[in-house]
Amino acid sequence: MKKRQVLISGGAGFIGSHLCDYYIQKGYRVWCIDNLSTSSIENIKHILNLPEFKFIQEDLITFKTSLLKHKFDMVFHLASPASPLDYFRLPLETLKVNSVGTEKMLEIAKSSSAKFLFSSTSEVYGNPLISPQPETYWGNVNPIGSRSVYDEGKRYGEALVMTYHRRYRVDTRIIRIFNTYGERMRLNDGRVIPNFIAQILHGKPLTIYGNGKQTRSFCYIDDLIKGIVKMIEVDYHLPINLGNPDEFTILQLAEIIQKIAGIKTQIEFLPPLEDDPKQRRPDISKAKKLLHWEPVVSIEEGLKKTLNYFRSLVSQPQWNKKGK
Ligand code: UDP
Repeated sequence: MKKRQVLISGGAGFIGSHLCDYYIQKGYRVWCIDNLSTSSIENIKHILNLPEFKFIQEDLITFKTSLLKHKFDMVFHLASPASPLDYFRLPLETLKVNSVGTEKMLEIAKSSSAKFLFSSTSEVYGNPLISPQPETYWGNVNPIGSRSVYDEGKRYGEALVMTYHRRYRVDTRIIRIFNTYGERMRLNDGRVIPNFIAQILHGKPLTIYGNGKQTRSFCYIDDLIKGIVKMIEVDYHLPINLGNPDEFTILQLAEIIQKIAGIKTQIEFLPPLEDDPKQRRPDISKAKKLLHWEPVVSIEEGLKKTLNYFRSLVSQPQWNKKGK
């Protein structure tokens, strides 16, 4: 029987590489397109030489999709910088991969009659005025601030996906991913969990932007992947929140990480980031009902695994040399 074909943009990234693993294990042929701008070949090195895995190191923005002669069964568009530090550094690339890039991936799905999934974000809610955030909330987004390249990029992406669904009947799905963490994040990724762990492992103070009373809800990667693969199987086209509803202030998170690591370091308060959302917590009632899904990994359990992963990275010579 012919293997089913999956295309994943951003497949060498933190989330994308776990999705590649899932479909390889399920017996699919997996195509991964990634420009490695915020991801790493290390994340896919264990599958790189498998005959059922094909890595295309290209930038989706300039990639000639006509070179893809295959028909795909599923198309996942995950490529995008996702850490604030990355999209501050790559603002135009972020806008383009979520606009031009989304359109290219939608065209591939359309010509393949494939199922399509777009990874959107909780950032579409901006600095939310209600909590928890249900999918019906339209958000409170600054359209011109420095975060807008990501927030508005994803909002445009969602509009495009819905348009392809309505106009061309493409079999689309949209997930709004809330803060996710786990193995294969970069130690210098800039997001709060890798930052705190890197700082603890190097005996440096934990940096907190603002007063640390802002909240986030953190989902462990394995839980998220289970939600994504369930989502592609259901016949539902409106956005769905995927995240863990357990909410913590950033100060609480700092304490939990210190406790798990068994290391106490100082806390350094830095000026707040522009438009940093004050609160974020997903309402996942829709995902629970539709997908029969909810996160099962506690923050302590997920952080222990993540800490072990980062410990093994830090013990590698290149990290010691850089002293990061
Ligand atoms: N944050 C922090 N110190 C850090 C990194 C992040 O206090 O070293 C804060 C950041 O200001 C935000 C929260 O942690 O309020 C989550 O930031 P992250 O970059 O992980 O993701 P975001 O949810 O903002 O996209």
